Amino acid sequence: MGPHTPLLRRIVSDLESISSAYRTLLSAIEEVEPRIAAATRQELTDQRASLKLIASENYASLPVLATMGTWLSDKYAEGTVGHRFYAGCQNVDTVEAVAAEHARELFGAEYAYVQPHSGIDANLTAYWAILAHKVESPALAEFGAKGVADLTEADWETLRRRFGEQRLLGMSLDAGGHLTHGFRPNVSGKMFHQRSYGTDPETQLLDYDVIRAQAREFRPLILVAGYSAYPRRVNFAKMRDIADEVGAVLMVDMAHFAGLVAGKVFTGEEDPVPYADVVTTTTHKSLRGPRGGMVLATGEYAPSVDRGCPLVLGGPLSNVMAAKAVALAEARTAEFQTYAQAVADNAQALAEGLLRRGVDLVTGGTDNHLVLMDVRSFGLTGRQAESALLESGIVTNRNAVPNDPNGAWYTTGVRLGTPALTSRGFTASDMDAVADMIAGVLGSTTPTTTSKGEPSKAKYDLTDDARDGSLAEAQRLLNLHPLYPGLEL
Ligand code: PLP
Repeated sequence: MGPHTPLLRRIVSDLESISSAYRTLLSAIEEVEPRIAAATRQELTDQRASLKLIASENYASLPVLATMGTWLSDKYAEGTVGHRFYAGCQNVDTVEAVAAEHARELFGAEYAYVQPHSGIDANLTAYWAILAHKVESPALAEFGAKGVADLTEADWETLRRRFGEQRLLGMSLDAGGHLTHGFRPNVSGKMFHQRSYGTDPETQLLDYDVIRAQAREFRPLILVAGYSAYPRRVNFAKMRDIADEVGAVLMVDMAHFAGLVAGKVFTGEEDPVPYADVVTTTTHKSLRGPRGGMVLATGEYAPSVDRGCPLVLGGPLSNVMAAKAVALAEARTAEFQTYAQAVADNAQALAEGLLRRGVDLVTGGTDNHLVLMDVRSFGLTGRQAESALLESGIVTNRNAVPNDPNGAWYTTGVRLGTPALTSRGFTASDMDAVADMIAGVLGSTTPTTTSKGEPSKAKYDLTDDARDGSLAEAQRLLNLHPLYPGLEL
């Protein structure tokens, strides 16, 4: 598992020369801008020095990192494979074709588009591709136009109005959805008439009957499934059924759990690819690739998604597409399946360890890669808990819980995820030790008052003993599972 893997051992065996290559590169950077060389060095030191439990982060392999730092970055390649608006794109064609081939084969998708620079870009590409397919194409036929260039000003006006009439139903931010799933301040909440579904107030789980009733009433063009902070699996067969009943397009954003799909932990009705029309993802979370996005689609949607550039994207990042190809090749190995299973097992161990120590969890547990603690029984806000954990060597992020009384800034929850520590090689028993540290720190943290004597949502006291004990235990675990072992700058 993690960096101690057959895949990585190939280069790990020659770490002295890798270390020396990085040292040479960093000294070249230092000559141009020493502050950037220093920050880059320091980031490795910092990442090595704390327990990273941020559910959306991971540690990419050295081959993935190395692939991003090359001259492929210098090439413009707007267009698609074999159909570019620039000359000399033959190597970028190879890169993009290999990445798309790996993505199609890994996920069993009919079509893969690997150009989006991020998860948000992937979602924007998907939304506009769906609009192009479901709204623009029928309008062109109705107006007797061959393409948008043939539209009259009056046709354009009609088309713009139709785009503006479309509806989107996605999971609410509060219940664990993402900003791009129709949250009002995001462009997705402005370009569509939006509504959101939440979770059951009692169980905090998705209630498919309620989603169905909402969909029947609202009749969205797009039903979005997927989440950033929901600690459970989703049944995509049920979501497909709901979409079919109301004639909606089913789009699944698997940004968070793509690694669990790739690693065959989510199969059958928990695998979105056979059920959704369009699937979007990031490549840098549980999938353990470079920062980036990707869209998978059925053949029906492929021609529209393929127009991501010029629809909403400019030139692709060729070096990052290359790194996606390397990461996807890694994700096709049996070893990655072992990793993905360990991510889920570790989340389970972390949840059980926390529950045993009296920590409340949203939905009462997890069956994916993340855990959402509700810290109100400690008398804390999410912000106080996040800060106390940070000074104790544990990096997390505060997160709203359903109907959060403290809002999205202070929050009542703290989100934890296991992809990164699992990449370092952490096991279930290590996660129990981490649960013990978290419960110990939270139990030793007390809120303090503001200068006006009111309860503070940000300030707190943490006992020195609890902090020092946690820091020492963190160091013990980090030493057991070094990050990029042997890489010395
Ligand atoms: N979709 C989901 C479900 C996410 O959790 C995120 C990131 O947190 C995104 C999309 C956006 O990804 P990015 O930050 O790469 O734009």
